[in-house]
Amino acid sequence: MLEIRNLHVTVEDREILKGIDLTVPAGEVHAIMGPNGSGKSTLSYVLAGRDGYEVTEGTATLDGEDLLAIEPEERAAAGLFLALQYPVEIPGVANMTFLKAALAAQRKARGEPELTTVEFMKRVKTAAEKLGISPEMLKRGVNVGFSGGEKKRNEILQMAVLEPRLCVLDETDSGLDIDALKIVSEGVNALRSPDRAMVVITHYQRLLDHIVPDVIHVLANGRIVKSGGRELALELEAHGYADYVGQAA
Ligand code: ADP
Ligand code: MG
Ligand code: MG
Repeated sequence: MLEIRNLHVTVEDREILKGIDLTVPAGEVHAIMGPNGSGKSTLSYVLAGRDGYEVTEGTATLDGEDLLAIEPEERAAAGLFLALQYPVEIPGVANMTFLKAALAAQRKARGEPELTTVEFMKRVKTAAEKLGISPEMLKRGVNVGFSGGEKKRNEILQMAVLEPRLCVLDETDSGLDIDALKIVSEGVNALRSPDRAMVVITHYQRLLDHIVPDVIHVLANGRIVKSGGRELALELEAHGYADYVGQAA
């Protein structure tokens, strides 16, 4: 589903990603772990098409479609969803209104009919209840006045409503207490499906106790320096990233 080949990315004339290869088949959850500054967020931003992240070499495709050649909105329509490390506040746009507009745009781009208001409300309410997001929070501006944990839960709500093909979660665990971590993880696990792929970016192994990945990749200094199974996370927890940081420099 997601296929990244030899991806090099430069930010402000500095090469941050130095040749990433990553294949995530449908139905699988892959974790990307790495020290701060290794390029984890850069990878998610470049997939999402954020300004200022220049691809100098390599390719990234989603279901064979060239992601790098299309606009950010088109990437969302193609089924890409990114849960941000630092979710943005959108004052003046009610959470519910945002969800409705985002879903309508995505379904239109896919040639699917719009949901009826009843169907839409049902989908939002079901997901919001599971995530502990109150009706009042659905009326508020997107993320406005939300706590850190509420913002992360709201990202998962967007994901649940939009039903993307590929979910990229950038440090969704950062700043969460244990209870919020459980709620978020359950929300993510509920979205695991044979026709959906997920990339879970995290600094800490504890998230992977809750969201158990099929494959773990270690990103250090802009390169994937090791890939493996669950045991890799435990090894990192025990020894830290020091072994890998030197290796990739
Ligand atoms: P991680 O998410 O793994 O902590 P990032 O992708 O955020 O790492 O950052 C990787 C490197 O790129 C860091 O050295 C960071 O300072 C640099 N970087 C990221 N974004 C920018 C930016 N907008 N401008 C300048 N440097 C940036
Ligand atoms: Mg960081
Ligand atoms: Mg980051």
